[in-house]
Amino acid sequence: MIYENINKLKAEIEKTCYECGRDFTEIKLIAVSKYFGINEILEANRSGIEDFGENRAQELVLKFDKLGNAVIWHFIGTLQKNKVKYAVRCAEFIHSVDSLDLLIEIDKRARLQNKIQKVLFEVKTSYEDTKSGLATEEEVFEIAEESKKLSNINVVGLMTISPLTDDENLIRNSFRSLRILKEKLNHNGFNYKELSMGMTSDFKIAVQEGSTMLRIGSAIFGERDYNKDWRQI
Ligand SMILES: *Cc1c(COP(=O)(O)O)cnc(C)c1O
Repeated sequence: MIYENINKLKAEIEKTCYECGRDFTEIKLIAVSKYFGINEILEANRSGIEDFGENRAQELVLKFDKLGNAVIWHFIGTLQKNKVKYAVRCAEFIHSVDSLDLLIEIDKRARLQNKIQKVLFEVKTSYEDTKSGLATEEEVFEIAEESKKLSNINVVGLMTISPLTDDENLIRNSFRSLRILKEKLNHNGFNYKELSMGMTSDFKIAVQEGSTMLRIGSAIFGERDYNKDWRQI
């Protein structure tokens, strides 16, 4: 089933790219494997997926210790300071940097592990109270400036989660504002390439608005069982 899901999804992404004149190969498809096990990850990997996203540090460690660098790991969840060392140990990319404190901790841990950590700044692009992320453009410019001083950090782009709504325009506006922010930063001397945006419900809009990293879970693995404990995986 995972194999079929991936082929169907890739065909849809390719079609959307074709319709809006984008090159399919410039988009990385990250399979969000949270709450799913090693067998499912391996099946997705055999079906051509190389990138996997996790949002809980312990679950990432557990899977990393089984699969190591056979696949590329992305940390996409809220990161507490005391878990940074795990994310840095396992993840090639940390998508969810939403404060300078967190970035400084990542830099410190990366130095200890002799690693240059690739990160993205998570930006809040909607007015929902529950969403994490840097809330204003000023904050993003500030952390972007500060990040230049951190020698074990490589900022590759921006990430956002769209608002939970059926209103396509709100979702589109959220993705579009992230793209415009990236362009602004790059006009000011930064060189950010990635836009991590788009999930199962909104990946087509994200592709149309310039996404370079899609984070897709349920369209690949099916519905998640949230009662599942990470230790059972
Ligand atoms: C779970 C999750 C996803 C994937 O969600 P789906 O709707 O299953 O595609 C993407 N991004 C983040 C940050 C997530 O936590």
